[in-house]
Amino acid sequence: MLLITLTASAGDLREFEAVEPHMGTLFRIKLYAADEQHAAAAFRTAFDRVRELDASLSDYKADSELNRIVVTAVGHPAGVSEDLFHVLATSQKLAEETGGAFDVTLGPVIRLWREARKNNRLPDKLALEEAGKRCGYRKLHLDKANRSVTLDQAGMQLDLGGIAKGYAADMALGTLKRLGIHRALIAASGDLAFGDPPPGQCGWKIGVDSAILELRNAAVSTSGDSEQRLDAGGKLYSHIIDPISRMGLTSRITVTIVSPNGALSDGIATAVSVLGAQPGMEIVERMDAVAALIVATEAGMRNRTESTRFSRLTRNCVPDPHKR
Ligand code: AMP
Ligand code: MG
Repeated sequence: MLLITLTASAGDLREFEAVEPHMGTLFRIKLYAADEQHAAAAFRTAFDRVRELDASLSDYKADSELNRIVVTAVGHPAGVSEDLFHVLATSQKLAEETGGAFDVTLGPVIRLWREARKNNRLPDKLALEEAGKRCGYRKLHLDKANRSVTLDQAGMQLDLGGIAKGYAADMALGTLKRLGIHRALIAASGDLAFGDPPPGQCGWKIGVDSAILELRNAAVSTSGDSEQRLDAGGKLYSHIIDPISRMGLTSRITVTIVSPNGALSDGIATAVSVLGAQPGMEIVERMDAVAALIVATEAGMRNRTESTRFSRLTRNCVPDPHKR
């Protein structure tokens, strides 16, 4: 853990920052605590929670809970952890709400694209077709009462790459809260979760495109703006997959979502990237407490759209009463 002690202090609280690699990226935590000892203990507990989540939700780790259920849950229910159930339930709700644009059962196709990026060549058409037959969110069933998962078919693979980091940011924030640290932010590359603001401030300031947002008790995710692209004959294919064509997105789109929690923001940002600017924005406008900024570039033309709620966010930040 890299611990950075920041000079900022407000009243009897000081600002601390720490960074650790998790889930294939760097997790950064900023928090306000009375002293370094309290801060260091809180960082350790929060990072450990993220590590625990990775062990359950990772599609890279062969022995993760996620990779085990694709064997044990075929044809009959398999009990899962609260974390995995919650992430899958949020994913399935998003799949329904986005007409399947968000689909965590795309694992077989996503793996082919990952291989393709490594080899710098497009996935084989027949292989994609075959992999596609093992995908489809309707083949994944959840039973809330028994906290279990059933998969319709052998050979399915689940991939939570579009939602797990946002969920982990939420959980890290929750861990800090339970330790009495309410003023904190978690940043995992494009996925950020904010608790109460720094003392005396209205929110945590972040820059999104040209807008400055001041946020508290909210989460922001940005999708689409990635270095993870495959360049095939001058055409760039994103690591985000369109479930219908099974192809990496070729549209140039960056989606930023603000919502009450990280799992939602993360998932919706990925889904809206698939849907495209206009249909994506229509869905966002229908969702409760969700705001979006979409920047799409087509034929050299940059098109920037804000949802109604996003425009309000850039104007309103009501000061928070100074509390510990
Ligand atoms: P994000 O950076 O949050 O947009 O997530 C991108 C990651 O989500 C990819 O690397 C895949 O692991 C996964 N993914 C790709 N396409 C989809 C999709 N249509 N629905 C759900 N997850 C996806
Ligand atoms: Mg996402």
